[in-house]
Amino acid sequence: MMLFCCPGSASGSVTSGSATGSTLRQENAWAWPQFPRDRSHCGCSEERSRWNWPIAPGVLAAKLQLKHIATATTEGYAARPGGAQAELLAEVNKHEADRNLQLILAEFHNYRNGILPSGPGARNLTEFFATVDADVNAESAAAPKVQRNDRDILNLLSKRAKVLHLGPANYCWFVDPSRALCLKLAGTPTATRPMIGMCDSARCPQATHHDVHRSVWAEHAERTKIFLGQLGKTRATERTRLQADHDRAVRVIADIDTATTTASGDLP
Ligand code: SF4
Repeated sequence: MMLFCCPGSASGSVTSGSATGSTLRQENAWAWPQFPRDRSHCGCSEERSRWNWPIAPGVLAAKLQLKHIATATTEGYAARPGGAQAELLAEVNKHEADRNLQLILAEFHNYRNGILPSGPGARNLTEFFATVDADVNAESAAAPKVQRNDRDILNLLSKRAKVLHLGPANYCWFVDPSRALCLKLAGTPTATRPMIGMCDSARCPQATHHDVHRSVWAEHAERTKIFLGQLGKTRATERTRLQADHDRAVRVIADIDTATTTASGDLP
């Protein structure tokens, strides 16, 4: 947890390079090492883990923002056998379940306010919210004097909340393992949990992107653009791959903006 004494990690920005002046020295007192400059890197968490690099402060900040950090920091311990670990795992699972309920409730309220999800799984999630909304409205019509509160709505949302997993740049609605792109890529189609480390949320039908993920994608697009600018003319293969990566990030950002602004603009 010492990681979070870095001001850059809390804000999601990475400070690097030489600095002068006591303030800047203090800010740069803790920083991740630079990627080697003799290769091309997209800088995403997937690549860092492939290179056995630590997760970047930006991703950690995203996990913190997405309230995913408890899971990220404890899953290694909880997976080991032993009495205390089982208790810890139960506690983590409880927190995770509560967090998921609050997240899906927030997204349901967003849906009602015209702020929609984007990404390949957006339609499925929107249809689910529409069903819940219709149920709530039907119950209200049947008993107009009974005030429906969040608890009633949570009951309808709870099943879907149980399959929610948080990626650093997306929500994963793990409804059907056979549709999970990560499991297909890993060759483990019967796994009971998604492989977040192999997530390709721009292509998986169970992934959604929300406004809360925008900054992660924007940071990724910016970083990829910088790497592209540093590539030599002879690195055609890397350029093509990085360009596709950059274009994908820009597309995801545009989709998030469209889903969150156009829809809300349609509100009466
Ligand atoms: S690819 Fe991503 S969104 Fe799809 S199931 Fe795997 S972790 Fe979830």
